[in-house]
Amino acid sequence: MKKLGFGLMRLPLLSEFDRASVDLEVTIKMADHFIEQGFTYFDTAYMYHLGNSETVFKKAVAERYPRDAFTIADKMPVWLVKESGDYQKYFDEQFGRCGVDYFDYYLLHNLGGNAYTDTLKCGGFEFIKGIKAAGKARRIGFSFHDSAELLDRILTEQNDVDFVQLQINYIDWDNEGIQSRKCHEVAVKHRMPIIVMEPVKGGSLASIPEDAEKIFNGYNSAASAASWAIRFAASLENVFVVLSGMSTTGQVADNVGYMRDFKPFNSDERALVEQVAALINKNTAIPCTACAYCTEDCPQNIAIPQYFSLYNNQKQFGLTPSQTVYYNNLAAGGHGKASDCVACKQCEEHCPQHIEVAERLKEIAAVFEKS
Ligand code: SF4
Ligand code: SF4
Repeated sequence: MKKLGFGLMRLPLLSEFDRASVDLEVTIKMADHFIEQGFTYFDTAYMYHLGNSETVFKKAVAERYPRDAFTIADKMPVWLVKESGDYQKYFDEQFGRCGVDYFDYYLLHNLGGNAYTDTLKCGGFEFIKGIKAAGKARRIGFSFHDSAELLDRILTEQNDVDFVQLQINYIDWDNEGIQSRKCHEVAVKHRMPIIVMEPVKGGSLASIPEDAEKIFNGYNSAASAASWAIRFAASLENVFVVLSGMSTTGQVADNVGYMRDFKPFNSDERALVEQVAALINKNTAIPCTACAYCTEDCPQNIAIPQYFSLYNNQKQFGLTPSQTVYYNNLAAGGHGKASDCVACKQCEEHCPQHIEVAERLKEIAAVFEKS
C-alpha cells in the first residue's frame, strides 16, 4: 500500500461558514485522481464535517468503486459513548453512512485525557476486538493526542491492538505540549505500526514564511512546502501511512506526484527540515491545527480555530485590513467575538494541542476588536 492517505476532514466546502456543506462534485474529482494514481487509503470519522465526511465518502468512493479498490479507516466517537451499548449504535450508524460492510482500519478516536479511562470503563477495547473477530474491521487501533507517558501506558495495557495513529510533524517534533518525537519513540519501542495525522499541521506547513521557503527552495525549487512536511513524516521508522487532509484538486495532484514513488529523506533533507522548524517555531504564536474539536460545546459559538489562524497570520505578516474584514465577517455571521468568551473552558478539555483557549482569546480581542 502506498504511504499517502486521504484525510476526509478538510474537504472543499460550498460555504466557508458551514462545515457540513461539502462540495461533492469537487470531492469526487479529488478522489478519482487519487485512486487513478494508485492510492487507496481514505480516513474519516463520525464527527468530521458534522457527519457528512462519512456520507460523502460513500457517494464519492464506496458507491463508485469496487470494494477492493479502496481502504477505509473510520473512528468511534468515544466521547459520545455513555454506556457500553452505545458502541454498537454508533458503529452500525457508521456502516450505513459509509456504505461498507467492513472497515479496513477501525479506531477509538482520540484516547487522550480522561478518554482512555472512560473507554476502559465502557468496554471500548472489548468492543473493537469483537468487531475484528466478527470480520467487521480488519485492523483495530486508536488515535491519540496526549503525552508519551500515557501512550506508553495504553500500549503496555492494550498490546493486542494492530496500530496507533499519532500527530507527528516537524514543527511539533520537540514541542513539549504535543510530544511528537517522544510519542513516536514510544510506539517504536512497542513495535507498533504508525499512521501519522496532521503532518502538515492543519495546512499551516503548506504555506511557510518566505525565509523558511528559501531554505527549501535552495535545495529543490520544484518541491512544495507540503511535500517536505509529508515526506518528513513518511520517512520515520514504523510509519506506514501519512494522512493529508486535502481540500483542493491541486493539493491532491501535488501530493500524489511526490508520493507515487516515495523516496525517504536523506540526511541533508532532514537537516534542512530541522533548520526550518527552528525558524518557524520562533514565530508561531498559537499552535492550533484547526481540528475544530473545541467548537462543538462552546456556548458562545466562538470561531476559535479561525480566530487563532487570523492571529497567527497577523503575527507572521503584520495586521492587514483583510484579516480584520475576515474577523468581522465571522462575528457578523453568527459567531461570538473573541471578547464574548465566558471562560467556561469547555473548549480546552477537547483541545489536543492543550491550548489555553480562553486566555489566548483575550489577546485576539485586543488585536481585532480595537475600535
Ligand atoms: S472558554 Fe470561551 S471559547 Fe471556550 S467554550 Fe467557553 S466560551 Fe467558548
Ligand atoms: S484550539 Fe485546539 S481544539 Fe480548537 S481547533 Fe485549535 S487545536 Fe483544535
